[in-house]
Amino acid sequence: MAVETRSIEKQDIKENMNVLERTQQVIKTALQKMRSNENTYELLKEPLRLLTVRIPVKMDDGSVKVFTGYRAQHNDAVGPTKGGIRFHPDVTEEEVKALSMWMSIKCGITGLPYGGGKGGIQCDPREMSFSELERLSRGYVRAISQIVGPTKDIPAPDVFTNSQIMAWMMDEYSRLREFDSPGFITGKPMVLGGSQGRESSTALGVTIVTKEAAKLKNIPLAGAKVIIQGFGNAGSFLAKFLHDAGAKVIGISDAFGALYDPQGLDINYLLENRDSFGSVTHLFTKRLTNEELLVKDCDILIPAAIENQITEKNAGDIKAKIVVEAANGPTTLKATQILTDKGVLIVPDVLASAGGVVVSYFEWVQNNQGYYWSAEEVDEKLEIILTDAFLSVYQTSVQKEVDMRLAAYIVGLKRVVEAVEWRGWV
Ligand code: GLU
Repeated sequence: MAVETRSIEKQDIKENMNVLERTQQVIKTALQKMRSNENTYELLKEPLRLLTVRIPVKMDDGSVKVFTGYRAQHNDAVGPTKGGIRFHPDVTEEEVKALSMWMSIKCGITGLPYGGGKGGIQCDPREMSFSELERLSRGYVRAISQIVGPTKDIPAPDVFTNSQIMAWMMDEYSRLREFDSPGFITGKPMVLGGSQGRESSTALGVTIVTKEAAKLKNIPLAGAKVIIQGFGNAGSFLAKFLHDAGAKVIGISDAFGALYDPQGLDINYLLENRDSFGSVTHLFTKRLTNEELLVKDCDILIPAAIENQITEKNAGDIKAKIVVEAANGPTTLKATQILTDKGVLIVPDVLASAGGVVVSYFEWVQNNQGYYWSAEEVDEKLEIILTDAFLSVYQTSVQKEVDMRLAAYIVGLKRVVEAVEWRGWV
């Protein structure tokens, strides 16, 4: 069934809005649709807190480099804030703020007892040694330690951060507080209190919602032609899960280019040969650009890399019937409108990529209880939560006659809106 969309007024959408303005626009429209109290938008349009820190790090050559980092806490009315930390040269204050707001929506859609948070450091981990990264990770925790903690704000991995970085951060926090604090951070290695299934949880979540979307569009997943942009943590596990489910992965890409084969790519070979940052295409001479890959013929397109990949410029050329946003913010609002008008079913980022934070929540619960679950238990619970989340977003989009992104925000904001009202904040 096609979903009608006229919900965000065309004149309100400017293509050059930054991620924060875009997020504010969708929150504003969602709150209007929910007929919430006017003060609620004033409160939710920015994070409650944003800490900017400068982190001096001794580099291996003896010099000192000072890095800029942020931690944003969108809203803690529902519970402590939660969200990852990214290490990337393009990290900005606006981006971290918007990402913390998206985390509130993700936690709301999946019913987790958290508000959204996010952190980031402007750096390029691809150019840093292991020991420089360790000093940077520990320095960041010392700099933000006053505002984080297992019952305040719980970080996790994000772009270019991993379980090793979480381990150093957990160790630094435990030393500062002088007690073992596994619940301070999620995405840890198993031996330090990590959860079964956390590493592949974002991809498993994307797979679960992709299956639901394919059912709605009557596209059998077995044999469906899939293109995945990005081969990092989410993209690579995703290629494997979808390949194992019988889908034909015909395109993948990384920061250097894209591989495309209408007969299906050799996913196992690519997985074995990718490096820890997800680069693999440089091993091939016949490559496409990322832009060329996005508009190739396929049934399901999964942007799993970075922001602003599907814009007003290329949305009209997208051939996919379903776009599942495994990355945060890959589609602009104008592009969302163009795709929805063409009858493309969009599974928005705040829903599609929520598997990571759901299993992070399971990890935190296990840390608090000191009792650990099996991989099957984790996967089953994730499937129940995400299937329900997908259906409630889809039903909201049909009932309120809005696109899937706006529907996701309406569902995701419900708990925080109720919580700020009960607490008497608005
Ligand atoms: N960084 C991930 C996200 O954007 C995971 C956050 C978490 O596990 O807290 O959803």
